[in-house]
Amino acid sequence: MQQKNVVVLGAGVSGLTTALLLCKTRKYSITIIAKHMPGDYDIEYASPWAGADFVPPHVGMGVSMKEPLELATWPELERLAREQPEAGIHLQESIFYRRTKDRDNEKGKYVEDLMRDDNPFRRMLPNFRILHRNKLPQGMDAAVSYTSVCINTSLYLPWLASQCLKAGVVMKRGILNHISDAAALHHSSSPAELVVNCTGLSSLRLGGVEDLTLYPSRGQTAIVRNEPGVIMASTGTDEETESTYIMDRAAGGGCVLGGCSVKNSWDSQPDPNLAIRIMKRAVELCPSLVPPGQGIEALSVVRHAVGLRPMRKDGIRIEKETVRHPDRRPVTVVHNYGHGGAGYQTSYGAAKKAVALVEDRWTTQARL
Ligand code: FAD
Repeated sequence: MQQKNVVVLGAGVSGLTTALLLCKTRKYSITIIAKHMPGDYDIEYASPWAGADFVPPHVGMGVSMKEPLELATWPELERLAREQPEAGIHLQESIFYRRTKDRDNEKGKYVEDLMRDDNPFRRMLPNFRILHRNKLPQGMDAAVSYTSVCINTSLYLPWLASQCLKAGVVMKRGILNHISDAAALHHSSSPAELVVNCTGLSSLRLGGVEDLTLYPSRGQTAIVRNEPGVIMASTGTDEETESTYIMDRAAGGGCVLGGCSVKNSWDSQPDPNLAIRIMKRAVELCPSLVPPGQGIEALSVVRHAVGLRPMRKDGIRIEKETVRHPDRRPVTVVHNYGHGGAGYQTSYGAAKKAVALVEDRWTTQARL
């Protein structure tokens, strides 16, 4: 069967996962075009900065439209962690605490909902249990524990790229001003019949997309060499936009301490005062990060980092449309962007949905 030419624009976790699942159908000849590739660290490239772990989303409150994507993603991340150590993902015990102060607010409600019998993630995540009150540290009034995954993004992104290359995908650098320019960049020199748009936050300014409902949520972390061997998080801090989490990444990826979530901030530089607060709170939450009796001076810092989560007012956009440009042929575009703080934990669900829209492009045409 003659393969159809497809260009995937973007080489973050969304573009690479979508390209990989497209390859598996064997129906497409795929070129990935991107300004940034695995190995790069840039404020315009969210994927390398992620923790990254899998946190159950807030279900049943209308807060998350992503649940089905996450339910579809977990099995694959779990399989990779169990069967393919070279992907840089491992399984890890994860403890999520509710601060007594948060008992009556929205964050506290999240932990309450997590404990509900009908929460699908309670059934899906291995070893899910509610911790007994007398096992909780001071200042906490509830906690759940489960097995999650922790992804070493500096190994996982190159691993995704290598899987794509093995399946025949061609990867090229390029900076595009308009989404329809992508159609002319297929490696065969024949035009692509379809473009998949996985440009994350850059879809805000990319010609032909210009999605003004996108905005950044700035996240700052500290990556340290200390190895607590656990993921831990709490519902909040006394600072509105700050949070406390630690995650010990697979295969020497360091332990990520976070963090914050500052809407509409584009600032790419780590704030040194925030860095101190992040490290202090991490040691308070997880004293085993450092030797007994020691504080943040015992943290061995690899770097302080800042990334921008690609937030979108109405959540992730996975849609198909025809994009027109006055000087080009109309091009079918499948969008897969706007994953906010959940691009890894929705990656396979989102990519499967995008692949279904790509497939639909040809089945619909065949029916006409
Ligand atoms: P990106 O990674 O930004 O990739 C966009 C791609 O498009 C790049 O290759 C870029 O070069 C390319 N591109 C853009 N514009 C153009 C153009 N005009 N021409 C050519 N190429 C272009 N998610 C989780 O699931 N779990 C976590 O624990 C987690 N923790 C996070 C912690 C932090 C601090 C941050 C910042 C994010 C975190 N995330 C987490 C969210 C996750 O990182 C993002 O949702 C995800 O990386 C988005 O990936 P993407 O591929 O859509 O976009």
